[in-house]
This record gives sequence, structure tokens and C-alpha cells, in this order.
Amino acid sequence: MDFSKYLHKFTVVPSLSDELAPLQRIAYNLWWSWEPDAISLFRRLDQDLWSSTRHNPVEMLGILQQTTLESLKQDEGFMAHLQMVDEKLTNYLGEKSWFQREYNGDTNLKIAYFSMEFGLHESLPVYSGGLGILAGDHLKSASDLGLPLVGVGLLYRQGYFRQYLNNEGWQQEIYPENDFYNLPLTLERDSAGMPLEIELEFGPRHFKVHIWRVQVGRVPLYLLDTNLEENAPEDRLITAQLYGGNQEMRMLQEILLGIGGVRALRALRIIPNVCHMNEGHAAFLALERIRLVMEKRNISFREALEVTRAGNVFTTHTPVEAGIDHFPTEMLDKYFSKYIRSFGLSRDEFLGLGRQRPGDQYESFCMAVLALKLAGHANGVSQLHGEVSRSMWKNLWPELPEEQLPLTSITNGVHTRTWMSGQMGSLLVRYLGTRWLDDPTDHNVWRRISRIPDAELWRTRQTTRERLVDFARCRLKLQLKQIGATAKEIATADEVLDPEVLTIGFARRFATYKRGTLLLRDLERLHRILNNAERPVQIIFAGKAHPHDTEGKELIRQIVQVSHQERFRHRIVFIEDYDMEVARHLVQGVDVWLNTPRRPMEASGTSGMKVAFNAGLNLSVLDGWWCEGYQGNNGWAIGKGEVYADMEYQNQVESGALYDLLEKEVVPLFYQRGGDGIPRDWVGMMKASMQSLCPVFSTDRMVQEYAQFSYVPSYRQWAQLEADDLALARELSGWKQRLFGLWPGVTIEGVDAPLGDSVAVGSNLPVSVRVGLGDIQPDDVLVEGYFGVLDNQGTIRGGETVSLAAAEVLGGGLYRFAGELECRFCGRYAFMVRVMPRHPRLGPVYEPGYMIWG
Ligand SMILES: *Cc1c(COP(=O)(O)O)cnc(C)c1O
Repeated sequence: MDFSKYLHKFTVVPSLSDELAPLQRIAYNLWWSWEPDAISLFRRLDQDLWSSTRHNPVEMLGILQQTTLESLKQDEGFMAHLQMVDEKLTNYLGEKSWFQREYNGDTNLKIAYFSMEFGLHESLPVYSGGLGILAGDHLKSASDLGLPLVGVGLLYRQGYFRQYLNNEGWQQEIYPENDFYNLPLTLERDSAGMPLEIELEFGPRHFKVHIWRVQVGRVPLYLLDTNLEENAPEDRLITAQLYGGNQEMRMLQEILLGIGGVRALRALRIIPNVCHMNEGHAAFLALERIRLVMEKRNISFREALEVTRAGNVFTTHTPVEAGIDHFPTEMLDKYFSKYIRSFGLSRDEFLGLGRQRPGDQYESFCMAVLALKLAGHANGVSQLHGEVSRSMWKNLWPELPEEQLPLTSITNGVHTRTWMSGQMGSLLVRYLGTRWLDDPTDHNVWRRISRIPDAELWRTRQTTRERLVDFARCRLKLQLKQIGATAKEIATADEVLDPEVLTIGFARRFATYKRGTLLLRDLERLHRILNNAERPVQIIFAGKAHPHDTEGKELIRQIVQVSHQERFRHRIVFIEDYDMEVARHLVQGVDVWLNTPRRPMEASGTSGMKVAFNAGLNLSVLDGWWCEGYQGNNGWAIGKGEVYADMEYQNQVESGALYDLLEKEVVPLFYQRGGDGIPRDWVGMMKASMQSLCPVFSTDRMVQEYAQFSYVPSYRQWAQLEADDLALARELSGWKQRLFGLWPGVTIEGVDAPLGDSVAVGSNLPVSVRVGLGDIQPDDVLVEGYFGVLDNQGTIRGGETVSLAAAEVLGGGLYRFAGELECRFCGRYAFMVRVMPRHPRLGPVYEPGYMIWG
């Protein structure tokens, strides 16, 4: 018998009296998760429950008996603590922000940040790894800085899997259900109190969506949910798992995120003017924005594209094409054939939006290409990744030199207060004041780190390492219990690791390119390093492999097998189920953070930054962010940034370099103690690391850069195009059509410059160009010299452009443009000239096929 139709559902919530109501308010704003006083408030409520709920205050308040809660009112200490935290939250929400100070007046800016995953806290498991943590940290800093931003994502019933290992060390996956009613979620409702609902109809699928809100400080995050009773079973599964299911499921999730996300915001009466796609997953949002503008203003696809593109920002995170979603054209036919009718595009025109070569029938539909074509600003996540991305996507801008592609970089960061230990935070307040909190990107503030006495910084290091060892032992006991170990075996967990020993951490996704086993290549040598009687070393590993990644799981198995060997049993530990809690303990407790990606596969990496904020030192291949962070005295580099063709050879060379570094530099430095037991030089390096890295690698700096270089310029351009009922957008679209029609007549007839003699450094080289424009006016084009020093491959590096002014009308549509190139460095120079369209108001316009070089 099916009882489901008899179920009358209702929700029970704790009923707190007025005095205790602030508890609820704090529990429902994830601000608490980066406020140490709020965390200690909840821990104080019930220490055991705090751990067993995975630090979930909402669930905890639900479990605690009403009488227990009410009796708190008699606890004066608790009530004072509660009041203090409540006031802190009120102050936080009301304080004048960086954004108000910097951009006073731009009150119409509204940013929506779309991401497939958000890592905000371990109690809200809707993230898998780096991408999600970055998104979570982005929202937190956006809140701290007061950006007018909202987040959009999906609310997964099961989130990402939880990991445990069997006896052999083979990864097992479990998918616990998220109980939405015990999470800090609020269902969005309409004015009649009914759940707000949006509908999506794509191909054979037709379903409804609910919207839940998570409050992240001042920033709301809206999460979409298809698990509604009225939806078909297969549609209810769309929000079942993060990165679960097949390619078709992935496409449905991306339709939901991008298109459903825009519709959800409209239902909430939020009309963003800047939409940020965190990775290509969200790129369908650009189509929906176009569709809405077309519908509302009755304009063409091209016109709508001009406005909306200005307001789209795209961040790519992958240095390899295989890492990006590609969908077969049949799948687009299946789901989009009806949707694209509203665009007035042919099937091929539509499919071309996702192709590098739009006419290539065989090319699949790539979400990154779609995003790059429909976003006005695009960036990679470190300088090196920016370079790699430009090289990857250069075919999209065939006429531009690689270094000039409109694909820049904004290096990732981490949310300081989320990742820094409470001890370190208090130490900094004592010696730096609170300026590092208010103005975290100010180098001068962080220079004051040198004022902290070595002994105190070292003591903090010792304490957090001890906490990590404690935590690792506890976890190990739980792990042993879970696989049915005997009491005696479980007791041995107390013997592993040593709180005084140099501790290396390695935790990340077990993808093969990250080379989690590089350190295990020569076990004899490793044994001599770890078990040196005077100068021992220990390593803690953690990380998940994707459920389908057998190779990644094999790496985990190897590590676990090695850790079971008698000689390594006390020195190597694998902590299961890497999540934000494990990460926090690790980054706060380790002395050294090891990172061994195969360059340039690590787009940025962020865990090493978390370590830097806790005075740990990085030991890493020069890849991702570390190329920018490493300065010689603030950690160690494995190799010099070489790229090898032979992977096996590379592993050999780099593991050798790693062992050498450990033996000759890292270990001796750590154990070189003064009479007081303090390793002065090591502490000096800790300070150099914090001084150089903390002001740079935070999401505060990162979000400020997004505001400065992406959001605000995007918004201004969008506003210009949008003004007066899209006057400029319509005009631009018509202008482009006319100009592009005349473009085939544009020619460079000749270039004149006195190249015979060498040019003295510091002097200028006069250049003039004769350009045939036909019926195009000289005001409608930009003529430029692109020049610089040639590298040994004959390419201009670090080139500069100088615009050449119209100097003479030669008649017959022929014009002379002239200017001077400033030769500031010695060396072999070269220059080229180019002509491209320039809109009188909007400036140069680059579109593939409309630039000529001479
Ligand atoms: C920070 C973090 C990551 C990302 O770290 P990478 O250095 O990019 O590998 C992944 N997972 C968790 C749980 C984290 O906290």
C-alpha cells in the first residue's frame, strides 16, 4: 500500500522565547562560521552535540530540549555571551563597507554570482572541492566588503559523497541525505505565503523549482531545488547529487543553474546587471538574459547580445580542454530546439555559439566557448593560468597576438577569517591591532608581523600542531571503529604522530596530475627522512578521488598501504573524508604544506594560501598561485618551473628534488634550535611568508579586483548600452552591421618608417601608414602600431600598442595615419600595424574576422 497520499506534512521548529531568539538569528546566518565568538557560543551550548552535528547550530537547536534551552536564560555568563555576539552581528550587518567607501553612488550595481557548488561550511555539504570553496570564500568576502552581490546555486539532496576506506585502503562512497529542515535554509515564499515556484520546460522535461535562501553575512545565496512531489521522479533527481549522474544529467543541472537561476532571481524581483559565471557550468544564463531582453524590448538577438554581453563576467578554472563540459549536438537538439526559436537563430547559428569553428558540424558544444563568446570580461585564476588559457582559446581571437587576448587573470585567494585559527587571529590582534581585519590588503599592516616575538609565534605554531595531532588521532580511532577494529587496535591510534615533530600536510583531490604519491617513490629514502632519530618527520594525507576515477583511488590505496607498514605506522596517517573541517585542522596545524602538481595543471590552488595565513610554509612545484607567491625566502620551490614531455622522467627528477630539499633544507632548518628551543631561522621564514603572502592571497584582494576590473567596468558599459531604452545597443548593432559590410574594402596600402639606421634607446621611431577605407570614415576605425622586443622565437613579448592618428586625406578613400613608437629598451625590436573598427562612443571593437594587419 502506498501511504504517501495520506501523509500530511508539517514542520516543527524550536520555539525560542524573545531572550533566546538571537540564537536562532545567529544560527541562520553563516556569518557565525567565521566569527570565533559565535562559534564558541554554540560550542558552549553543548560540546558533544556540537561535534556530532558536524557543527550545525540549526540542527543542534532542534535537538536540544525546550527545557534545556529555556534554562539558559538563568545562565548569566551565557546570556552575556549571546548578547555580545548578537551585537557583533548587528554591527557587522550595518557597518559602512569598503564598497560604499570606494564606489559611493553606484547604487544600481547588482551582481549575481552563479556556481555549481558553494563550500561555505562543513555542515552545508553542497561542495566537492576547490571550485566550491572558492565560491564560498568569494561570497564571504563580498559580504565583508559590502558588494551588492547575490549567489545562485543548486541545493543537492545528497551533496557530494562522503568517503571512507575499507581495510585495504580502497575508497568507498556514501551519500547521506541532507535534511533541509535542519540546515540554515529558508524557503522563499510569495506574498500569500506559498512557496515561490518557477517552471522550466526543456525538450521532454517539464518541472517546477523551489528556491531556498542561505544567508552569508550580508549576502544571500539562493539554491534551487527540483525535489518536489509534483515533479516526475527523473526530474526530482536533477538536484540529487553534485557532479553525479551522466552527461545528460549534467546538462539538465546546467540548464537549471543558468536558466533556472536567472528565472529564480526574477521571481524574487532581483534583476542583476552583472552576472558572474564561476566556470562554464553557468554559461546558459547568458542565453536566458538575451531571451529576456529580446522579449521585453522587442529587439533582435544581435542587439540583445550587445547589452547582455557587457554585463557578463566569466571565470575559467581549467587548464585542459578535457576538464570542460562539451555536449554532443544531439543533446542540444533534444533540449534546446524549442528554446532557440525565441532567438530567431538557425540551428547552426545557435550551435556555433558553443564552437571554436562555428561552421564545423563535428565540433561539440563547449560551455567555455559559449561563456567566452557571451561574456564581456573573462579571466583565468592565476597569472600562469591566464597565459595557459590564452593559449588554449587563441583560436577564438585569430587576429590577436596571444598576449593581447581579452582573457586576463585574477589570482584566487582565501577568506582569511574562515581559514585562520582563532589563536593566530588573537595573536595578530595583539600585535597588529585590528587593521589587518579592516584593511587586509595593506602590506604595511602585515609588515608589523616582525613585532611578534619569535617565542610567541612559535608557541602558537606548537599549539595548533598539537591540536592537529589530537584531531588526527581522534579521526583515526573513529575510522578504525568503523571498519570493526578491536579495542586494542583502536587504542594504538594514540601512539601515532608526535606533537613535537615536523609535520607535513598533503590534502587535495586525488587526481593523477596532483601526484599524491610523488613522495613515496623511494620508500627507503623516505624511511630515512621520517625515522631519523634526532630529526623525525611525519606526514598527514587526506583527499577524495572522484567516484569514477579508479586511478585516483589507486593512489589513495597505495598511500594507505604504505602507512600500514610497521616502519611508517607512526609517521604517516591518512585522514578520511576530506572536507572543510579536516582542511581547517590541517592548514592550521601543519608546519609544511606539500604540493606536487604537474605544471601547468594546477590552475591556482588555494590550500597553500590557507596554510600561509596560519604561519605554515609552502613546499611546492612552481605552478598556479605559487609562481606569484614564491620569493625565495618565504617557502620552497620544487624545481624551477620546468615543463617536461616525459612524465616518468619528470616524476623522477621532481621527487629527487623534493627529497633533496627535505634532507638538506627543510628538516635541518626546523631542528636548528637556539638555547631556548626555538628555531629562529624557521620562525624568520614563517614571518617572511606571512608578510609577503597574507596581504595578497586573500579573497578580499581578489573580490576587490573583480569589483575594480570586472564588475564595475561591466556595469558601466552595460548601463551605457542600456540607457534610453537600449539606444546605444541598437545603434551599435546597426553600426556593426554597416561597418562589417564595408570591411572587405579595408586595405593597408603601405607602411613607412626609417628602419635603416639603428634607433637610440629612449628615442622615438616615426611610423606612418596608408590605409584604404573605401566608404568607411576614419573616425570609425582604430589604426595602431603594435611593437616591442622580439624573443628568440621571433614573437613580440610584452608588446605595447600606440594609436596612430589620421594625418592626411589622400583622396579616393585613402588616408595616412601617423604616430611614433617609443623605444624604451635596447634589443631587437619589431612592429606591426593593424586596423580595426572603433565605435565613436564605445571605443575599439574586436570581432573575429574584422581586424587587418600590415
Ligand atoms: C581549500 C580546499 C580545497 C582546494 O584546495 P586546492 O589547493 O585547490 O587543492 C579542496 N577541498 C577542501 C575541503 C578545501 O578546504
